Amino acid sequence: MKNCIFCKIIAGEIPSVKLYEDELVYAFLDISPINFGHTLVIPKEHHTSVATVPETIAGRMFRVGSRLGVAMRRGLDCDGFNLHLSDGTVAGQVVMHAHLHVVPRWTDDGFHWNWRQLKYESDDARAEIAEKIRKHLKLDNQPGDAPAEEPEV
Ligand code: AMP
Ligand code: ZN
Repeated sequence: MKNCIFCKIIAGEIPSVKLYEDELVYAFLDISPINFGHTLVIPKEHHTSVATVPETIAGRMFRVGSRLGVAMRRGLDCDGFNLHLSDGTVAGQVVMHAHLHVVPRWTDDGFHWNWRQLKYESDDARAEIAEKIRKHLKLDNQPGDAPAEEPEV
């Protein structure tokens, strides 16, 4: 897609440090890493949301991300890794081309997810939330799955 920074990276119009590429996905170092080695895995097809990425490609993204995590364990001697994906501006997505973050983690690397733990008011409230999600769960793509295209940064 025109004006998409990640499409331009795939096309070689913007430089990147490539770690892996196949017919479906492209993986390269994040330019502002959480930890050194932080990598992004992106589908070669442009999709704003991961929800519209076809299953074969999404599966490849997850597989490549996991194997990159193992490669980080071996090559960088990290102790673990995070796979992270932000879908939508409110979730922290800045680049509107779906991407999976692979972040190598070391004990005491000084990075913490700001992860809170709420409590459901009651079992009924919890069941109601589950049902609200469950009744809309469709595994095939539907119109309106992707949010409207947002300005590229
Ligand atoms: P997100 O906030 O999930 O949309 O993440 C976008 C990521 O893309 C950020 O971690 C940026 O550092 C990274 N990024 C943006 N531009 C580039 C670039 N030209 N090369 C590599 N990574 C980039
Ligand atoms: Zn794109």
